[in-house]
Amino acid sequence: MMKNSNRRKMAVFTMDLENFTDTGCIMDSDLKIDQDMLDGLDEYVSILDKYNIKATFFAMCEAAQAVQGKMKRYISNGHDLALHGYDHTAPIKLDCDEFRYRIATAKKWLEELFGVEVKGYRAPFFSLDNERLDVLSELGFKYDSSRFDFPNRVHAAEIDVSRFNKITDNVFRRGDFFEFGMPCHQWLGLRIPVSGGGYARISDWTFFLSMLRQYLAHSDYYVFYLHPFELSKMKMPQTPNLKSHDQYYLRAGVKSYHRKIESIIKLLQKLGYEFVTFDELANRLQKGEKVFN
Ligand SMILES: [Zn+2]
Repeated sequence: MMKNSNRRKMAVFTMDLENFTDTGCIMDSDLKIDQDMLDGLDEYVSILDKYNIKATFFAMCEAAQAVQGKMKRYISNGHDLALHGYDHTAPIKLDCDEFRYRIATAKKWLEELFGVEVKGYRAPFFSLDNERLDVLSELGFKYDSSRFDFPNRVHAAEIDVSRFNKITDNVFRRGDFFEFGMPCHQWLGLRIPVSGGGYARISDWTFFLSMLRQYLAHSDYYVFYLHPFELSKMKMPQTPNLKSHDQYYLRAGVKSYHRKIESIIKLLQKLGYEFVTFDELANRLQKGEKVFN
């Protein structure tokens, strides 16, 4: 029936665990907002629990501290904790020494707060280049998930993977360090992000699903990501003075995202995807397991 049914395929569900005020358009404004919208974390975990999926959480220090008790419970239930940042500044706006200092401080801080090793990193705005990527392996990280080969982003930076060995599309290895990229689907000369975030939430759903199906038909690796506010049940704070496209980005599709995520999970299940965390994927690849065909 399914052409590729004996192929091994891996899906990783992730969240960039950050406060509502870490969102780019809010950061750049002078709005004073108290709500952190972090209840979206629990909404996400409750969806994933239904399907027994363990996720990888890329945490900002302040947000992680705010949900420390819950996050400890999630970690003891098999979810991974990784680092999103000391603060939400785009790494390419920091010089390398400052980046190294902030990331080393944040890694140590999270490890002490949660009593686990923090092995992975995802840059705010996916804004990472090779120079800063090298800092991560120097600091003892085992993997990064910042490569997003989608040109129309703010603070875009390029990770050149020519120094890496390609394991499968979007997965690269250099020594014991892994780069787990964010998938896009190549369509009519365009690159369409299919990995969640605002794209899955705001895009026309039929179009998004069609792009996702086409991507999954030829791939064996998928990553989903989003932010807590995108699933929050709290009342969205007023954001006067933001441009209309930013207002739209913050609000569109929030109420229906829950259902869309479940549809994506069911599609992945139907196609025979196995759900893993990035820690698990890195461990299995490191042991030499033939994870992908
Ligand atoms: Zn972020």
